[in-house]
Amino acid sequence: MPETRVIVNLSNRHIHVSKEDLAALFGPGHKLTRTKDLMQPGQYACEEVVTVRGPKGSLDNIRILGPERKETQCEILASDVFKLGVSGCPTRESGQLDGSFPFEIIGPAGTLKKTRGLIIAKRHVHFDPESAQRFGVADKELVSLRVGEERAAVFENVVCRVSESYALECHLDFDEGNAVGIGSGSHGTVIKK
Ligand SMILES: [Zn+2]
Repeated sequence: MPETRVIVNLSNRHIHVSKEDLAALFGPGHKLTRTKDLMQPGQYACEEVVTVRGPKGSLDNIRILGPERKETQCEILASDVFKLGVSGCPTRESGQLDGSFPFEIIGPAGTLKKTRGLIIAKRHVHFDPESAQRFGVADKELVSLRVGEERAAVFENVVCRVSESYALECHLDFDEGNAVGIGSGSHGTVIKK
């Protein structure tokens, strides 16, 4: 029998920034201040926060997750779409920014108008290759995930992402966690198609 039980951690809205954008927002030579290591190796939460603005409104205190990325991307919750005025903002895997929405970022040292990079995070499970083998899943495979107790539900279209640089962990966002009454550190069951 393949393994099925996976730890589930919830992501809040957050932003990844490029080196150039970090300098534009916080000043030249600014270095990110690590406050908490995340479960994925090398990933961490930072002290730095920015404001993200859309056509209709803005969201304050959007935390930067480090390290810097090649391209800036902001991952919002589906429930943020109305406040920002970005109806139609696509649900995407991290890094897949074709068709993502434009947005503005306001930092203490400057404001940036981005032509793309705003997405709603697509629910996913990170697997190292050995874990993927135990679960019997391949990179990019879509599975379902059962989570919750009293408010349990099955999420469909959960992307499996397999890489040497990952640790076994499922990422849902706050909207999804709230919908099924779970917090970070709970467990889910992977259901293959
Ligand atoms: Zn993730």
